[in-house]
Amino acid sequence: MRCAANVIMRLMDQPIPVVGVEKHGFLHISIPVGMLQCNCSIIGDPVTREALVVDPGDEVSRILELLGRHRLTVKAIVSTHAHIDHVGGLSKLHKYTGAPVMMHREDLPLYQAMDVQAAFLGVMPPELTDVHQVLADGDALQWGSLEARVIHTPGHTPGSVSLYMPPDSGKITLAAPQLFAGDTLFAGSIGRTDLWGGSMEEIMDSLRGKLMALPDETVVHPGHGPTTFIGEERQSNPFLVSRD
Ligand SMILES: [Zn+2]
Ligand SMILES: [Zn+2]
Repeated sequence: MRCAANVIMRLMDQPIPVVGVEKHGFLHISIPVGMLQCNCSIIGDPVTREALVVDPGDEVSRILELLGRHRLTVKAIVSTHAHIDHVGGLSKLHKYTGAPVMMHREDLPLYQAMDVQAAFLGVMPPELTDVHQVLADGDALQWGSLEARVIHTPGHTPGSVSLYMPPDSGKITLAAPQLFAGDTLFAGSIGRTDLWGGSMEEIMDSLRGKLMALPDETVVHPGHGPTTFIGEERQSNPFLVSRD
């Protein structure tokens, strides 16, 4: 589905680095995968080489190649929400790594309805996997010396989550807080709410009540398109600037 057409158009204008660098105190590799160019993130501990994979939507062989090249072991696989472009590779990645698959409980029905989503796009439905751990708001995910907090940010889908890494969480001090926002917040835009279970009211509550409460210097890694900062979006995102 076109999660945000303008973001995808912008993405096509600029090359995205294939491999990230160890610049924030952790290893981050972001690659756009699949037809809809979902940003798949690999977040690794540079010492223990343990990694979390976020949104392996497609191109699992490419993801596995990157994991191997950087000598990373996958500890968990998280989907920020159950749209096909964010979950297509879950089954294959789980099979190859054995790592548990996690998503929010409220997106399980959407995950089970993969044939409907595939038909909407005119593609073959991907193979489904068991979901080994359901996520809830406030859960802490730990791998290596890293830690991320689950923030339930419904609106784009009922079970959309964002992953937040405060600078002093875990044993590694990060240069800046990090947010993996799925399709809730994009650079200059927000997720669409006209698909199954979407709600404009809920996404605005999630954005204003939860994501905009994060520090300005938080680096935002959206589900599509370029990275941004919370402060930047607070000031210039047309959906978030206050009109009074
Ligand atoms: Zn998406
Ligand atoms: Zn989506």
